Order: sequence, then C-alpha cells, then structure tokens
Amino acid sequence: MELPQSVFDCLSRLENAGYACYAVGGCVRDWLLGLTPHDYDLCTAATPEQIQTVFSGERMVLAGEKHGTIGILTPGGVVEITTFRTEGDYQDNRHPGWVKFVEQIEGDLSRRDFTVNAMAWSPTRGLCDPFGGQQDLKNRILRAVGDPATRFREDSLRILRGVRFAVRYGLTPEPKTLEAMTDLAPLMDNLARERVFDELCKLLPLVNAEDLLRFVPILSQVIPDLKPMVGFDQHSPHHAYDVFTHTAHVTAAVPDDPVLRWAALLHDVGKVPAFTTDETGRGHFYGHAQLSAQMADALLRQLKAPNALREQVVELIDLHMTKPLAEKKAVRRLLSKLGLERLQQLWCLQKADTSSKGICKDEELHHFVVLNALLEEVLAEDACLQVKDLAIDGKDLMALGFSGPAIGKALNALLEQVLDEKIPNDRSALLAAIEKR
Ligand code: ATP
Ligand code: MG
Repeated sequence: MELPQSVFDCLSRLENAGYACYAVGGCVRDWLLGLTPHDYDLCTAATPEQIQTVFSGERMVLAGEKHGTIGILTPGGVVEITTFRTEGDYQDNRHPGWVKFVEQIEGDLSRRDFTVNAMAWSPTRGLCDPFGGQQDLKNRILRAVGDPATRFREDSLRILRGVRFAVRYGLTPEPKTLEAMTDLAPLMDNLARERVFDELCKLLPLVNAEDLLRFVPILSQVIPDLKPMVGFDQHSPHHAYDVFTHTAHVTAAVPDDPVLRWAALLHDVGKVPAFTTDETGRGHFYGHAQLSAQMADALLRQLKAPNALREQVVELIDLHMTKPLAEKKAVRRLLSKLGLERLQQLWCLQKADTSSKGICKDEELHHFVVLNALLEEVLAEDACLQVKDLAIDGKDLMALGFSGPAIGKALNALLEQVLDEKIPNDRSALLAAIEKR
C-alpha cells in the first residue's frame, strides 16, 4: 500500500521511537479492493502520552485523547493515531463500559466490527489479518468478528453499518451474521436517533433496488413505515409491482443526493393507509401524496433530521403527484413557486416514479423531455419569476398613493398577471394595470 507522505512520516516517527504502528481499518480494506482510500487511520502500541512525547513540538488535536486518539496536524491534513485498545461491557447497546489499552495489534483488531474492517498493514510487517478479512473480501462475504450476536448486542449500530458495507462492496452476510443482524434489529431502538439518521444518510446514496429489497426486514426496524408496503398489491393496471418493490426502484433511480433519496424512499409511505378499492376491485390511493408527506415529516422529526432536509423532502413528496401541463406558462409558474433546484428535483422524482412502475409508456417519459425543453426556453428568456424581477417596485406604488400591506398585495397580483402572460413585464404596462385596479 502506498501511504500518503504525511501518514507515512507519522508512522515512521513512531516506529523509529520503538512503537509498532499500522495503517488500519477502512484504508486497508479499500486498498485490498483496489480502491483509493478516502482517509487513513493509524494505530500504535504507544499510549496517548507516548504519542504526545514522540510528536512534541507538533500541533496536535487532543479532543479524542480519552479514547486513545491523538490527531497530528501535518502539511497533508490531520493524521489520526489511536492507541491499540480493547473495549467491553456494553450496557446500553452502544457505549463500552471500559476501554483498555493493549500492547498487541491483534487485541485492537478483535474489537472491530467486521472481518473486512479488522485488518492492519505496516510497511515493514505487511498485512495483519487474524480474522480472515482478506479471504472474506475475495469471497465477498460480510462476517462479524467473533460471535455476531455478542457483537451486535454490544453496539447495535453495527447492524446498519453491516448493511452499508454489504451494499457498498457487494458483500453477502454469512448466515450467522445475517441471522443476528435480523434477529437483533429491534435493539436499534435503543440507539440515539441522530446516529441512525447519519448511518441511513450514508447508506441511501449507495443502494440499488435489490439491496433495498434484501435488507428491508432490517431497515423497517428503523423506518417502520416501510413494513406494510412490502408485498402490498396495488390492484392497479398502472403498476406491475407491489408498493415496496416500486419504492425500491424509484429510490435507486433518482440521483444519489440525500434529499432525493429520502423523498423517493418515503414518497409512497401513505399509500397503504390511503388504499381503497372501487366496485370493479381496482385500487385507489386518493390523497396519498399528502398523507405520505405528513408521515415523512413525522418520521424525519423522530430521526432528528436537520430541518432544511426534512422540509425539502416533505415538499417534494407533497407535490409528487402534480405534473405540470406541457405549456410554458405552467413551467414558468412552477419555476416561480419552487425555484430551479427544487423544480429539477421534483421532476427527477416524478420521472423515477413514472419509470419504476414495471410498466411504463414511452409517452409518459417523453413528457419530461418536453418539460425540460420548455424549462430551457423559460430560463433563456430570463423571465420575471419573482416580485423583485418586476419592472416596477414598492416606491412606484407609494408614489401612486399605496401604503402598508397593500403594496405587497398589489405587486403579487401583478406578478400573477405577468406569469400568466396577461401583461408584459414593462413599466408602462404595469403602471397601466395598476391604474385599472
Ligand atoms: P468509511 O470508508 O465509511 O470511513 P471505515 O471502515 O473507515 O469506512 P469508520 O466508521 O471510519 O469506517 O471506522 C473506522 C474503523 O473503525 C472501521 O473500519 C472499523 O474497524 C472500526 N469501527 C468503526 N465503528 C465501529 C463500531 N461501531 N464497532 C466496531 N468497530 C467500528
Ligand atoms: Mg473511515
């Protein structure tokens, strides 16, 4: 493995002072997979005090000292160095009751979650792989280090991490690991919601439809609204898939932006509670977009998602059934209401929704081609989309005797007329329209 210079220098300084030091965890895994690691963690036999002695004179980050981690500020960024340690006695499925520094790397590797994450490498000693991580990577197997149930009871976030690593690297959990992940999923109820939300945000951009389908028994523990969707027959000629299979395809089909992935995953959560059948036996889901939006709002609040993300997701879900006509006027109105970014997100979601029914007519997708062409035209026009784009402003209205809230009201009324192409956005036409009022 080729370590970045700053990481190599830190490792060499510890080794030269007599302390074993290794690159460890994700960087070793990624290197063995032929990928470029996105960061490098070092671990060492030196205690935090000894690390500080070796690097005295350098600038250090000491925030993690209690857990054995010292950050060294190097020209290449912060290099994190952690003392070999074991931990144990988890009482709440997340926090170790004790952390103990140890002298051997093997002890440190034994506390890590999965064999593929429990490898270390040193330029002089080579690969240290006591749990067969390299072989598991070759065979694309996800395997807990030690007894899976014990490890997930210690920290149940490992269950979601396992899903993420399986998805990211195309690994299949070996039977005992999968059984423990599934059986112990309820322990994730004890985790801080922020940790669950963060882990889901890392997972969602990586998933394809098959991943969601194979891991939904685990995911529905933390997103309970997914459970009733699984296998739910839509009784509709427009849908070949059950509600969750459809949802899985939509989620995989939108770009890997967190807002869109969350919106796609939750866009139809209201379908099951909104379901009715008519006398012919056909299924309907009246009002499901609004119900889904409400349920998504409640779920994301519960997961302590940032307000901005929650609000954007909820807005997209709320609007996902409203498709504009293929007219410039309609596109201009929508652009005025949502802004460019949200409008494009909405169309991405709607297009994915349309293409993920298992039956899709070409003309339905062609509608989005037409809409995008109209959008290009509207953007090229540099159209008036907001009150501030109008050719007159509040001062003009005050000169005409308007005051207080009447000014804003009049400007908004003018904007409506301009958006509808009833009057052009020029000064004399706007002033004339005001006189008429
Ligand atoms: P990523 O590429 O996502 O950063 P990573 O493997 O580096 O993957 P981190 O979350 O950065 O993952 O953790 C670094 C290492 O620490 C992991 O490879 C694993 O060995 C160990 N680790 C992290 N979290 C846990 C946990 N909850 N339980 C056990 N070991 C963990
Ligand atoms: Mg990492």
